[in-house]
Amino acid sequence: MNHPTPEQPADIVARLRATFRTGRTKPVAWRTEQLSRLRAMLTENGADLAAALHADLGKSTTEAYRTEIDFTVREIDHTLDHLTDWLRPESAPVPAFLGDDASAWTRYDPLGVVLVIAPWNYPAQLLLAPVVGALAAGNSVVAKPSELAPATSAALARLLPAYLDTDAVAVVEGGIPETTALLAERFDHIFYTGNGTVGRIVMRAAAEHLTPVALELGGKSPAFVDRGTDLDVVADRLVRGKFLNAGQTCVAPDYVLTDPETAAALEPALVRAVESLYGADPAASGEYGRIVNERHFDRLVGLLDSGRVAVGGDSDRTVKYIAPTVLADVDPEAPVMGEEIFGPILPIVTVAGLSEAIDFITDRDKPLALYVFTEAEETRRRIADETSSGGLGYGLPLAHLTVSDLPFGGVGESGMGSYHGRYSIETFSHRKAVLEKPLS
Ligand code: NAD
Repeated sequence: MNHPTPEQPADIVARLRATFRTGRTKPVAWRTEQLSRLRAMLTENGADLAAALHADLGKSTTEAYRTEIDFTVREIDHTLDHLTDWLRPESAPVPAFLGDDASAWTRYDPLGVVLVIAPWNYPAQLLLAPVVGALAAGNSVVAKPSELAPATSAALARLLPAYLDTDAVAVVEGGIPETTALLAERFDHIFYTGNGTVGRIVMRAAAEHLTPVALELGGKSPAFVDRGTDLDVVADRLVRGKFLNAGQTCVAPDYVLTDPETAAALEPALVRAVESLYGADPAASGEYGRIVNERHFDRLVGLLDSGRVAVGGDSDRTVKYIAPTVLADVDPEAPVMGEEIFGPILPIVTVAGLSEAIDFITDRDKPLALYVFTEAEETRRRIADETSSGGLGYGLPLAHLTVSDLPFGGVGESGMGSYHGRYSIETFSHRKAVLEKPLS
C-alpha cells in the first residue's frame, strides 16, 4: 500500500507563510472564528481528550477538565471578550517641535508564522493556550505536541485540523528529530515550554534566524512557611498544589522552607492533609495521577532516600505509581535539593528564619514561582522586595496562573517572556510605532 509522504517542515512553513501573506489571518473576524472553533473542539471532544490525558498521565476526569480542557476554554472566552480592546491602537504624546497637527500611536501587527513547542505534563493546555494567543494575535501556527504524551499528541493531531483553518494551523507530531527539523526553519516567533537544556537548543536555533523566543521553563519553586500561621490550612494548600498531576507541575511547590519548630508542627499536618485528600492508600484513589514514564519514575525513586519519610515513600514501577511523599530533615545538599523534583516528593528544609530563607532563595536560580505563607505584612513585603521569581503567591500555590490578566512566565533560569490574556497579544505581536504628519 502506498503511504503519502508526510509534508516536510520546509513545505509546511512555506504553506503557512503563503496563507499569512494573503492577509487572511489578520482580520479580527478570522481570529475570533478560529478561537470559537477551538472552543468547540474542546467542548465537543472533552471526553476523548480526558481519556487521552488519562492514558498518558493517569489524570482523573476532574483534573483533566479543571487543568486542561476548561482551563483552555476560559482562556479562549477571556480572549474573545477582550480582544478588540486589547488590539486598540494606543496614542502617544508627540514632542512640540513636530507641530500641533502631528500624531503618534502604536498598533499591534501579527508576527507571521509562529512555532509552539509543548511539554508532556499538561500536554493539551500547554500546547493550546499559546496557540490561542498566537491565533488571537493574527498569526499562522505550527503546533508541536510532546511525544512523551502520545495519546494526547495523537488526539490533538486529529482534532485540530478538523476544526481549524488548515492553511494557517499545522500540527507536527514527533520527537527530537522532528523538532530539530522544525527548528532549522525560519519562524517569526518560537514559543517553547519545557526544560532549560532544550530551551538553550531552541534559543541557539532561533538565533540563526534572529527569531524571538519565549522560553517557559521550570526550576525549584520554594514555599516559605512563616511562624505563627495556621498549619492545617497551609498543609492542605501545599498538598493540593504539590500533588496535583502527581507533582508534575511546573509551578508546584518544589520544597518547603521553614524554621525547625514550624517544621516539627507542619510535618504531622502534612501527613493529615495527604490522608484526607487521597485516603490511607493513595494508589486506590481515582484522583491521584501517575508518573509519565519509567525514566522519570526511576529518577524520582532515586530521590526518595534524601530525607526521613514522614508519609508515602512507596512506589510501584509496573503502574508508574509513586505515593505522595513528604520528606523531613532534608539536608540542603541532598540529591532531592539538586534539580527540580517534578514529581510527588515534598522535602522540608529548615532555616533559622526569614532572612536566612531569603538568602537560601537568592543563592539559587530564580524560580518560576515562589510561595509565602505568613500573616505578617512585613514578611510579605520583604519577600517581594528582596527576591526575584516568575510569579509570587501569598497563601495559595498555583492559583496565580489561573488569573488571565496576570502575565505567566519565568525570569532567569525559569525562562523569559510571558503569556495568557493580553500578555499573549504582546508576545505574539509586533508593537509598531506609527507617526503621522498631515501633508497639508
Ligand atoms: P518534553 O520532554 O516533553 O520536552 C518539551 C518539548 O521539547 C517536546 O515537544 C520535545 O519534543 C522537545 N524536545 C525534547 N528534546 C529536544 C531536543 N533535543 N531538541 C529539540 N526539541 C526537543 O518536556 P520536559 O522538558 O521534560 O518538560 C518538563 C519541564 O518543563 C520541567 O522543567 C517543567 O518545569 C517545565 N515546564 C514549564 C512550564 C512553564 O509554563 N513554565 C510548564 C510545564 C513544564
